[in-house]
Amino acid sequence: MRLILLGAPGAGKGTVAKLLTQVDGSVQISTGDILRGAVQAGTELGKQADAYMKAGDLVPDSLIMGIMETRLQEPDCAQGFLLDGFPRTIPQAEALKTLLGKLSIKLDVVANIDVPREEILNRLTTRRTCANTACQAIYNVRSQPPKVEGICDKCGSPVVQRADETEEAISKRLDIYNEKTAPLVDFYRAEGLLLTINSPSSEGVVNAIRERIAG
Ligand code: AMP
Repeated sequence: MRLILLGAPGAGKGTVAKLLTQVDGSVQISTGDILRGAVQAGTELGKQADAYMKAGDLVPDSLIMGIMETRLQEPDCAQGFLLDGFPRTIPQAEALKTLLGKLSIKLDVVANIDVPREEILNRLTTRRTCANTACQAIYNVRSQPPKVEGICDKCGSPVVQRADETEEAISKRLDIYNEKTAPLVDFYRAEGLLLTINSPSSEGVVNAIRERIAG
């Protein structure tokens, strides 16, 4: 499948993408994960992105499009891809449209995961993430804590609060989402690709997407 997962930070895009990769081997492409990996590895891209990310700001479109142009042409994308956290702005959506046209790739659907702001704030302030960039397992201090406090069940690395998940940074990220990313809902509605899903569970979101793709 070839799809875009739209939704505010904390809407569950990453969890849904991971579940969908198990369906048909499509790869999850998270620009946030790619950027965090680059910051940790200290690459030129990481150095350029770091300050924007810590402040909860968007990384410039030109950097993001450079990443995606390369990533979408890697061989594992031939089976399909799930775009998680990209596009985030109208210029990115327009550049993606041009890029996909050039590569003769058609999207199946743009799934808009719609979660109320209160719920998002609640989820993000209690979310914790494995610090190992190769793992990045997600936990929640209330509903899904690691078995041993502060230690990842899967790989044993520290489980931490992301620098951009302090209350201040979250509030800024949500404002930026409303201003810059929410307009993509209308953009993809006009393209005839939009599927809005209100399900409270990730499994419900996955089922709605599978039903739509099955036609
Ligand atoms: P995420 O893990 O998707 O919430 O992304 C974490 C951070 O990475 C965001 O707050 C941005 O600073 C940056 N980022 C990720 N994807 C994009 C994108 N498509 N455009 C601009 N910035 C991005």
